[in-house]
Amino acid sequence: MKPSFVRYRGRFAPSPTGPLHAGSLVAALASWLDARAHQGTWLVRMEDVDTPRCSESAAQTLLVQLAACGLTSDEPVQWQSARSALYESALQSLLHSGAVYACRCSRTDIARVLMAQGFAAERHRDLPYPGTCRSLHLAFQPGMSIRLRTSIGRVDWHDRRLGPQQQNVASSVGDFVLKRSDGLWAYQLAVVVDDAAQGITHVVRGEDLADNTPRQILLQQALGLPALIYMHTPLVMAADGQKLSKQNGAQAADTSSPAKALQVLQAAASALGLQTPAQENGAQTLAVWVNEWRARLA
Ligand code: GLU
Repeated sequence: MKPSFVRYRGRFAPSPTGPLHAGSLVAALASWLDARAHQGTWLVRMEDVDTPRCSESAAQTLLVQLAACGLTSDEPVQWQSARSALYESALQSLLHSGAVYACRCSRTDIARVLMAQGFAAERHRDLPYPGTCRSLHLAFQPGMSIRLRTSIGRVDWHDRRLGPQQQNVASSVGDFVLKRSDGLWAYQLAVVVDDAAQGITHVVRGEDLADNTPRQILLQQALGLPALIYMHTPLVMAADGQKLSKQNGAQAADTSSPAKALQVLQAAASALGLQTPAQENGAQTLAVWVNEWRARLA
């Protein structure tokens, strides 16, 4: 389906597993600038489905940091932990259409099957699911996961920054999990359902999520949801050359005073290739960057 939109709606969707850092601020700023440059609406959504990893205090810290940077949600912040009913009804509709199935494989089971098939595991890459439970028609029981059948192989999509992209989901990822064996909702399902429920038209987020996009496109199609327009922003690298992330101990963005907030915003703007230096105050600076961003869209 070709994306179409009447009124721009974008979002920043952090997982509250830690404070905002230099890397996540880049995605937050880019999504905010893009929404403002399109005279659209910008939303913040707390992606706190992975409850054991998320915390209320991290979420509050994120919101305080964003506000200190002048980035506040145009509508009340939505919390995924309160939206289970929505995910359940999406899953039910997929169950009815036969698009999903119950799976009892553990990670070890999957690795064992792949090894027997001569699959060489690559570093930092999830193992593709070999389809073990696909035709077993198992009755769902607690402790099982639920997977989407990836019958369409190659997904072609366009990224506004990276250009034409493609991925063969069936061979590189395989049937993927929508509900985890521990009963938690998988990111893929929650993000797709919420983007649609919130009327999101544009997704602007970090490049580390680009390879999740084809899965989300397949899921949108399976649920009959509108296509979205995507842009994945540059990653900020840590000194060790790895993507800066909470996992490798990224420092919280220091937004403890307006001057400090402006400093971290300036670093994020530079990572986005914005040329204009910070102005006297945050609001003025953001307004100048919106114009610079808008000029790029033309
Ligand atoms: N919650 C995801 C993360 O923090 C981002 C989801 C998205 O923007 O699609 O990595």
